[in-house]
Parts: sequence; structure tokens; C-alpha cells
Amino acid sequence: MRVLVAVRCWSTTRTVRCLNLAAHRPVTVPTQYPRAPPATSSRPSTPWHRPPHRPDVLPGGQVCGAAQVSGGQGGRWVADSGYGPEEGNMTSDRLIEKAGSYLQRLCVGIPSRRVGCEGNRAATDLFARIVSSFAFRTESPEFDCIDWSQEGAHLTADRASFRVFVSPYSLGCRVRAPLVVVSTVEEMEDAEVSDKIVLLRGDIAKEQLMPKNFPFYNPDHHKRIIRSLEAREPRAIIAATSRDFVMVGSQYPFPLFEDGDFDIPSVYMTEEEGNRLAEHAGKEIWLESRAHRIPAKGCNVIARKGADPNRRVVVFAHVDARIGTPGANDNASGVIALLLLAELLAGYSGDLGIEIVALNGEDYFSNPGEQEYLAANAGKFGEIILGVNLDDVGYYRGKVAYSLYDCPSGIGSSIRTAFSNYDALVEGEPWDQGDHGLFLMNQRPALAMTSELLTELMAEITHTPRDRPEMVDPAKLVEVALALRDLLLALDQQRA
Ligand SMILES: [Zn+2]
Repeated sequence: MRVLVAVRCWSTTRTVRCLNLAAHRPVTVPTQYPRAPPATSSRPSTPWHRPPHRPDVLPGGQVCGAAQVSGGQGGRWVADSGYGPEEGNMTSDRLIEKAGSYLQRLCVGIPSRRVGCEGNRAATDLFARIVSSFAFRTESPEFDCIDWSQEGAHLTADRASFRVFVSPYSLGCRVRAPLVVVSTVEEMEDAEVSDKIVLLRGDIAKEQLMPKNFPFYNPDHHKRIIRSLEAREPRAIIAATSRDFVMVGSQYPFPLFEDGDFDIPSVYMTEEEGNRLAEHAGKEIWLESRAHRIPAKGCNVIARKGADPNRRVVVFAHVDARIGTPGANDNASGVIALLLLAELLAGYSGDLGIEIVALNGEDYFSNPGEQEYLAANAGKFGEIILGVNLDDVGYYRGKVAYSLYDCPSGIGSSIRTAFSNYDALVEGEPWDQGDHGLFLMNQRPALAMTSELLTELMAEITHTPRDRPEMVDPAKLVEVALALRDLLLALDQQRA
């Protein structure tokens, strides 16, 4: 999940690491790593804790949105899914129940959906199975990735020990070497860090660094730090990072590196621990970090329907979740809305090409699924009349905000007309840093849907262990799916 202001980006804690965003609106956005140290553990007294799964109810006792559903757009809509023109509260209730069950399967039955792990494969398999059952043609193109595991790290200096965390995707190490302390890139370029352990703190460690091979956004000052480290070859890196309240989940400390392509082992610690450790500059210290990279495979899932693939709408959500979070809002919510939409379109037989895609890698350091999708569609983006990104669409508080990007007026008015029937949806602020950037960077119109309370969600829940099913309202997912179904049928009819 990435967001514009106070948010996150294409997969981590970093400063705007987004898709097209560099080209669109440059913004500084720290992101972050979900494995929150204990300081950010759960807060039982926060208002987020509500009874699980209470569908929002409208005055009059109707489940939100359901009463307004017109049910299909007539024409070529075939209601063999059971969700045709007669749908109403009963249908909504069935879908809400189903959404709740999908939530449990994706976030509880599957303990982790991090790219490369068994759970990630289980999630993509489940998605492929379900959409195939609704008569979509499905394919699951694979990509190489790594899975990663760690069992902690241990740091001592002169018999004092220090609390350190392993940087996500780092290699492990067992190193005894002198400590060098560095606060700026200029200092590092002048220092003798070869064969030493280097402590980065202060200015050089103020924001998470983009992964070295991240293709979409990578500022020069990040590249300079990485280049400088690789040229000087310290044996290991310790990063003392500060508190940053705009980071997702407000993680403190945050990992300066989250990069499976960067091969110098690294750990991170709080500023306070960094100050204490700096007193040992010039002395030998001992660092052991137990971490492992595991070669793995992942896949996107692409499901298609409709007679004309050369004029298509792509509706997508990222299926992966960050390490250390059940990822209920981010982004089981979007995936479940896609599954419900697939079911609502089981009987679709229109001309408009409909592509439902589980992208796999938005919360992984190198965005492999997004890159796979870009490569597979090279030269074919012109066929896409609209890309629709669903990310964090089920937060139990607030409404689902939608925003339009470069949409022609006809498509824009179709969106607003279709969505106006659903009380859970509201037009919101632009949010430039999600996977819809894939479409914007290819000059295609896009629609993004996320929580209108994204800032709150990101500050407290996203990327943390607290992003659990009870943070998601299944009724909102049903409204998103119904609204998208209406939109797709309207766009199909416009062409008829
Ligand atoms: Zn997300």
C-alpha cells in the first residue's frame, strides 16, 4: 500500500517509491517495515478496537448499499450467478458472509502472504481456483523472487550488549571488527570503513533507502549512499534510525535497508542505542545476525472474460502482504472485492474485455509481480481503457474513497453515476502512489479505491500485526464489488 502524503509506497518504508509517481507528483514519503519492535505493539484502548464484523446498517435497517443496488444493467447481463436483477438485501447478506469467510481464509487460514512463501502461493492458488470457478479464463505467470527468514541478531561491544533488529531481506553474518561511526555520505566517502563494521546514524540514516535495483523511483542521494557502501565494502552495517511519525505504522526504529539485492549484511537499532554504541568507535565489536535468503517463485493471477480483449478494463489488487502482518486491510480487502466481483460477473457475456488481476509484489522490495505485468503488457497498454486499483478498501471506519486519474469525461461520468448508488463510497483526494501508477506511467486512465481514512489506517494498522480481519468490514467489500460490477456493465453497454 502506498499513499501520497504521510504514507507508504510501493512496498516499503521508503521515501516515495512509486510507480509513476516520480513523473506525476513527487512527494516525500517514508514507508516502513511491518515487524514493529515492541514499542509499537497493540494498544487495547484505541478506538480501532470494535466488535468484529458488524456490517454498517443504514437508517431503516438495510445493509449499506444493498438497497440501492439496481442489479445489472440489462442488455447482455446474464444473471446465472444468482446475483442478477432480483438481488437485494438477501444477496448482500450472502456476499457479506462470503467476504467474511474469505477474510478468515486469507488472513487466518494463511498465516503469511509475503512474496515467495508457501502462504503466498496458497493465496494465489486460492484466488485462481475461485475466479476459474466463475468461468474466467485464468493464467498464473511466474517470476523469480526470494523468501527470507531470520532468527534475530546479537551485538556486543566491550561486554555491553545492544538491541538490534535484522534488516528485512538482509544476509546474515558473524563478524568481529572495529567500529566506524558515520553521519553523512561525505564522511563515509572520507572514512576507512573497509573490513570494519560501520554505524550509520544521523543525516545518512534519516530515511529508508530505496532498493538499489528499484526501477520506478530512486533518488540520486540514495544511490550515492549505496554505491559508496558497496565500493568500500564494510563487513556489516548497523543503522541507528530515528522516529518518524509519518511512516506507516509509525515504526521505530525503521530499517534503513530493505533490499534483497544489497549484499552487505545489515541490522538496525534505535537512536538511543546508536548513541550508546557510538561511544565504542574505534574498538572491536561483535555482531551476529541470523538471516537467510531462500530462492523462490511467485506468480500473478490474471483472469479474463469478455469477447473483445482489445478493449478492456483491468481491475486489480495486490495479493501479497508485508512480512509480519496478516494484511487484512492491506490488501486482503482488495483481493476479496475482486473475488466478489468475479462472482457477480459469472454470467457476464459482453464485448468489453474484463481482466481481474491479483498482482503479487506491491509490498516486496522489487515489485516482481508489477514488473511481470508491465513486461507482459508491453505494447498492449493501448487496449486498456481503464485500470482500477483496489487497496485497503475495507477499513471498518470511514468510507471507501475513490479517485480518478486522467479519465476521459465519458468514463469519469460512468464511474460517478455507478458509484453514486452506494453509500459506502465517496469521491476522495488523489492518491498517487499505488499500483495504478502502472497505468498512469503508460498513459492509461486509472481509478483508485482506498479508505478515506488512509492516514489513520497507515499510522496505526497497516504493515503491523494489528491489520487483522476485525479491522475490515465485509459489507464495504460487497459494496465495492457491486459498484464495480455496475460500472463494468455500464461501460460494456456504452459500446453496444
Ligand atoms: Zn497495499
